[in-house]
Amino acid sequence: MEQHDKSRRKFLYDLSLAGLSVPLISSALQCTDDKKTNPEIMIEKNKKAGKLGIALVGLGNYAGGQLAPALLQTGNCYLAGIVTGTPSKIPVWKEKYNIPDKNIYNYETFDSIKDNPDIDIIYIVLPNSMHAEYTIRAAKAGKHVICEKPMALTVEDCDKMIAACKQAGKSLSIGYRLHFEPYNLEMVRLGTNKIYGDVKKITSGFGFLIGDPTQWRLKKAMAGGGPMQDLGIYCVQGICYTTGHEPIAVSAQEGPKTIADKFSEVEQSLKWQFEMPGGIIAEGEASYGYELNFLKAEAEKGTFELSPAYNYGGLKGKIGETPMNFPNVNQQAKQMDGIVLSIKNNQTSIVPGELGKRDVKIIAAVYEAMRTGKKVII
Ligand code: NDP
Repeated sequence: MEQHDKSRRKFLYDLSLAGLSVPLISSALQCTDDKKTNPEIMIEKNKKAGKLGIALVGLGNYAGGQLAPALLQTGNCYLAGIVTGTPSKIPVWKEKYNIPDKNIYNYETFDSIKDNPDIDIIYIVLPNSMHAEYTIRAAKAGKHVICEKPMALTVEDCDKMIAACKQAGKSLSIGYRLHFEPYNLEMVRLGTNKIYGDVKKITSGFGFLIGDPTQWRLKKAMAGGGPMQDLGIYCVQGICYTTGHEPIAVSAQEGPKTIADKFSEVEQSLKWQFEMPGGIIAEGEASYGYELNFLKAEAEKGTFELSPAYNYGGLKGKIGETPMNFPNVNQQAKQMDGIVLSIKNNQTSIVPGELGKRDVKIIAAVYEAMRTGKKVII
C-alpha cells in the first residue's frame, strides 16, 4: 500500500513537472556498461577522469527520478554514494548505479562521510525542513554542498548554512536548474540586455493539482508552507532573473480553499504583487489546485514569454508570435556539471547560498503580506 501510494505520488509529481521526457540513451548504455564493472574500479575510473563524486541524500522522487539518471550524463561528476533512511531502497540503487557498500550511509552514519575520500559533494534532496541540518552537517564533514530549493525555512537558517560552508572552506550551491536551461537563459538575455527595451511588466505562474493528501509538501512543519515554497519560488526567480532586479516590497492574497482535506496547514493557492525598482509591474501566482506554468515579460518594444516555463523538458517560448527554438537539455545534468565546474575551478557558484537566502527572504515577506493583508517591505 505504501509502495503504491509512493508510486502514485511520483506519477502525479512527474506528470506535473516532466513535460516531455528527455531520452536517456547514453545513460542506459552507461548503466549496462557499469554493471559489468566492479564498483570500486568504476570509482577509480571516474576519479582518474577528473570527475568529482556526489552523494545524494534522500532517495525520493527527485533524487531517483531526475538527479541519479542525470548523473549518468554528467562529465564533471558522478554518483559516488547515497544516504537513505529506507534500507529497502539500497539493493535497487546499488544494482542500478553500481555503488560500493562503503559509500552507502543512513542518517545516523551520515557524519562519517567525512572519512570517505570518494565523496566530494553532498547533494541534499530531503524535505525542506531538513535542508539546514544536513547542509551544516555536510559542511562539518568537510564536503561541498548542493542543497535543493527552497534553501531553508528561515533566513536565520540560511545564514547558519552559509556560515558553516564558509567556515569549512566549502562551496554551497542551490539546486536552481533553470539557471542552466536555454529557454530561461534566453529570457535573462532578452530582459537584462534590454533587447526590446526596458521590461515594463512581468507575470509568472506555476501550479498543479497536488495528489496524496498525506505527503510532507502539505505539512507546514516540513514544507514551510504550500505552493509558494514549492512552486512560487520559480516565479520569484523568473521575475528576478528576467528583469535583473529584486523586489522592494510585496502585497499578497491567499486564494480560496476549494479542495477538502488537503490544505488544513498550508495555502492552496496565492497571488502576489511585487513593487520593483523603476516601477516595473511584477505579479506572481502559485497553486496546488490548478495548472499554471508561464513567465511573460512585456517590454517597451515587444513581449517575450515561456509556457511551459518551468518543467524538466518540453519548454516552449516565443518573442511576439515567433517561436523560440532551443534544444531540450538534461537540466539536472547541466546544473550539476555547471556547479561542479565552478568547484573545480575554485570559482563562485552561479547559484550560491546567498541566492537561496534572497529567495527565502522574499518568500517570508510574501507570506507575511498574505497573512497581514498589508504591504511588506522586503
Ligand atoms: P520526496 O518525498 O519524494 O523525497 C524525499 C526523501 O527524503 C524521501 O524519499 C526520504 O528518502 C527522505 N526523507 C527523510 N526523512 C523524511 C521524512 N521525514 N519524510 C519524508 N521524506 C524523508 O520529495 P522530493 O524528492 O520530491 O523533494 C525533495 C526535495 O527536492 C525538496 O526540497 C523539493 O523542494 C526538492 N525538489 C526540487 C526540484 C527541482 O526541480 N529543483 C523538483 C522536485 C523536488 P529516504 O527514504 O532515502 O531516506
